[in-house]
Amino acid sequence: MKPSTLRIGYRYRPKRLAPDYDALVIGSGIGGLTTAALLSELGWKVCVLEQHYTAGGYTHSYNREGYEWDVGVHYIGDVGAKTRTRKMFDFLSDGQLEWAPMDDEYDRFYIGDKVFCARAGKREFRDNLVAQFPAEEQAIDQYMQLLAGVGGALSMLGMERLLKPWQRAVSAPYRKWKMPAHIYQKTYDVLSELTDNQDLIATICGQWGDMGLPPKQSAFLVHAMIARHYLYGGFYPVGGSWRIADTIIPKIQKAGGEVFTYALVKRILVDDGAVTGIEMKGGHRIECPCVVSAAGIENTFKHLLPADVVRDSGYADSMAQVRPSIGHLCVYIGLQATARELGLPGTNFWIYPSNDYDAALKEFLEDPNAPFPVVYISFPSAKDPDYLRRHPGTATIEIVAPAPYEQFEKWKGTTWGKRGDDYEEYKSELGERLLRHLYDKLPQLEGRVDYYEVSTPLSTEWFSGYQHGELYGLDHTPERLQQDWLGPRTRIPGLWLTGQDTLTCGVTGAMMAGLLTTTAMAGMCKMSPLMKKIFG
Ligand SMILES: Cc1cc2nc3c(=O)[nH]c(=O)nc-3n(C[C@H](O)[C@H](O)[C@H](O)COP(=O)(O)OP(=O)(O)OC[C@H]3O[C@@H](n4cnc5c(N)ncnc54)[C@H](O)[C@@H]3O)c2cc1C
Repeated sequence: MKPSTLRIGYRYRPKRLAPDYDALVIGSGIGGLTTAALLSELGWKVCVLEQHYTAGGYTHSYNREGYEWDVGVHYIGDVGAKTRTRKMFDFLSDGQLEWAPMDDEYDRFYIGDKVFCARAGKREFRDNLVAQFPAEEQAIDQYMQLLAGVGGALSMLGMERLLKPWQRAVSAPYRKWKMPAHIYQKTYDVLSELTDNQDLIATICGQWGDMGLPPKQSAFLVHAMIARHYLYGGFYPVGGSWRIADTIIPKIQKAGGEVFTYALVKRILVDDGAVTGIEMKGGHRIECPCVVSAAGIENTFKHLLPADVVRDSGYADSMAQVRPSIGHLCVYIGLQATARELGLPGTNFWIYPSNDYDAALKEFLEDPNAPFPVVYISFPSAKDPDYLRRHPGTATIEIVAPAPYEQFEKWKGTTWGKRGDDYEEYKSELGERLLRHLYDKLPQLEGRVDYYEVSTPLSTEWFSGYQHGELYGLDHTPERLQQDWLGPRTRIPGLWLTGQDTLTCGVTGAMMAGLLTTTAMAGMCKMSPLMKKIFG
């Protein structure tokens, strides 16, 4: 493995462009990279344009003061065996991406003054839940059955996204009959049919931060997808999350394509109703009748496309059906001792003030001084067996908590690093509040923090291009999941969509979205042999 420079991709200059790309991809997150890599495998020459200084989107890492942190990858499930997820990563990275298992207890939930946890392995997960809630065995078994039944619904959702509008119309009655009704119900409603034990419901929903909506608002389908995803434990990319993009990009380059950084796309160009290319910041235009937007739905329809095109193609009405997810704070911490010396676990901590997650979030949104509704703590250096080779004698921690964009809106439009003393003071206050949660759970760390910095939704806007600093793109409500226009195809010829907004959030969700987009673009005849190659 080469040393970690953490700046991957090739700096954009108009003169570095090839004259004849088959497709342009806006955004180098896992959704955009997957689409570009699979198209490259089919012989397309693809140009990926990324506004940030490094490729990878939320899978990128950064370093400062001798430490290294990931920004949007804390754990990934389903890669411990030859699953479809693992086969996709293996294919995209040519087997270069390796995975390290976290501790058996991958998630620990501090709920009020009680502690519960999730353990790796389907049987172990179930038995551990029963051990924590012995009177609830029947409800737990019913829950496990619901999880098992969701597999078919997830495949169906993927298939639905691939359909052309007329196919969707024809198959609607069949799909309605096939899809279990509870899939689009609220998570809490489904679980409260099984039990009225609020601690059990809270434990089962202890990962709600993985999709940004608490159980009385989220769609059961997404809850179940995440629970299934981690059922066999959490895994961390060996070498850090930046390795994901680093190992995928060569596939794009091998076919003559490129991934450009510092490449902000200002506009998608449309002539006579069809896409003709894109315009970059600075005014340079790249002509190409095939553009894939992997930059998120909000960016695509509210910022990149001409407003009249959005209106005339009906997307202004469609956009009124969805809303951005909440923003977040992250405290990036560096310590001058190793994870082992400090006693840091390979377990994520989820800290909740009470078992009523929805009430806690509501209270916090009404009063920012109320307790954080969830505080998530991750120990990346404890999860990565390669970390000490890159950063000897050190350790890192990340603390994440929700934060509405509106709280930071008064600094909108200011420059990163120069937002003013009042902003810095507010950040320190928030950082100190979050650090208290860390010291409360791991008192040995008090006085050991060597360096920390706080990111806000404005940092997310600055580095990741999300205009509301949103954590997971669009909110995962039942209504969002039923928007059939959220898929690879658009009503604008030549424009395709991919990434987390077109399927679900999560690295795997966005990667699978890339597979769907490539399938829609290339057609089943071309994709079948490739799928065979990937999945065997
Ligand atoms: C704090 C946090 C923790 C997370 N933890 C996990 C986790 O542990 N496990 C997990 O599976 N998932 C996790 N996720 C979610 C996961 O990272 C995302 O769902 C997924 O990576 C999204 O991929 P994407 O390709 O859709 O979008 P992104 O990765 O966001 O990529 C979009 C890209 O488009 C670029 N872009 C935007 N506008 C433009 C423009 N005009 N021109 C050029 N480029 C543009 C952006 O800079 C960005 O690089 C986490 C997310 C966050 C924020």
